[in-house]
Amino acid sequence: MEIAKVRGYALSSPINPVQSREFHGGVRRLLKRDIVLVVIETKDGEQGFAPGGASSSAMREYFEDESQMLFSDLVNEEIAPALEGTSIQEVEDAHDIIDNTDLPERVCHEAASAVDVALYDLKGKRTGTPIYELLSDRFDTEPTTSLPMYASAGMYMPPEGYEEQARILDELGFFGYKYRPGIGPEKDRHTIDILNEVTEDIEIMLDAHTWWKMGNHSYGSSTISDLVEYAGSTGAYWIEEPVEPDDHDGYRELSELGASLAGGESKESPQDLIELAQTGAVDFLQGDVRHHRGFTGCSTIIEFCQGKNIEFVPHNFGTWLGLVANAHLVSAAPEVNLLEYPVFENDPALESSKDPGMYPFELAFDIIEEDLEVSNGHIEVPDGPGLGVTVDLDIVEDYPATEGPWTEFHYKDE
Ligand SMILES: [Mg+2]
Repeated sequence: MEIAKVRGYALSSPINPVQSREFHGGVRRLLKRDIVLVVIETKDGEQGFAPGGASSSAMREYFEDESQMLFSDLVNEEIAPALEGTSIQEVEDAHDIIDNTDLPERVCHEAASAVDVALYDLKGKRTGTPIYELLSDRFDTEPTTSLPMYASAGMYMPPEGYEEQARILDELGFFGYKYRPGIGPEKDRHTIDILNEVTEDIEIMLDAHTWWKMGNHSYGSSTISDLVEYAGSTGAYWIEEPVEPDDHDGYRELSELGASLAGGESKESPQDLIELAQTGAVDFLQGDVRHHRGFTGCSTIIEFCQGKNIEFVPHNFGTWLGLVANAHLVSAAPEVNLLEYPVFENDPALESSKDPGMYPFELAFDIIEEDLEVSNGHIEVPDGPGLGVTVDLDIVEDYPATEGPWTEFHYKDE
């Protein structure tokens, strides 16, 4: 296909009023969520869409605080000139073009991710095929179109806050409830106990990146070991990123404690994820089509995991467009079954007496015209051509980008 136009749109979804969350090391303020939408148009006027990159960790050094807006500039100023006017036979050809630019490697990975997803969307639309079918051809699998999901919510709440969310999400039939601890070692331990008491079927996952992101108040290694061991002993399904992403020795030591560990979202490339897997210390590997070179890159990681004692469960935290993209991957990929479902306020797909959402993120839903079908904790993967959803371009007007970081950490004593 001949690529005529590549565009990135930075958009902001305000959190009004601004929220403050207390954690062990201080207060975190939540101001907005930023996203980038990437659109690729062919010479024939067809459009492919993708959620655009800038994972906070991968882009931090390159872009510092304002990653999302600068990522859209980068798409428009560096990636667009490289791709426009080229003729792409295979999606991989676009990866080569991006890798041949002068951009730093980590930026190439982020750009290749968005371009890969948008080209798959185009390829599906051209052939009238959902992406999961294109991927099933590659993997030689039968797609599964109703996928179990775990709910990703809780962040810095009093233990009763986590408790309430877990109860609601349990009732809604989700496979698991993932929360972010970090309210102090004793309270974190208490939260583990409470969640075990009040939940029935739902698995519990801890996303523990908070433990080492609290400035001077970050937990020491013995506190982390104790908490990991305790969570494991109470049956936690996994403990995610309990140490810094590149601390492979730390992962190895913790893996001796009997708890299941997860990680990978902060890695820059598919190869980096594979190297984490090769430590043998993680049970769950969390690549993401939005950050790890799209379907192409994640397929490589999944093929590495095949037949080994490690399960690929995509990291997925953002809008419904990203959710749908990762859903197509899970649908087709071998030995991959579970999808992460971020829970935001006023989710039109969830019906419950109380709102289990983390905070408002209206753009997460408004980005596509359709409502997604979620019932009993399962999502029906859209079966139309490409991603199978219609991006609502009104969002470009409705959610103008605003300056500044989306979140701020105010640490005690610093
Ligand atoms: Mg995480």
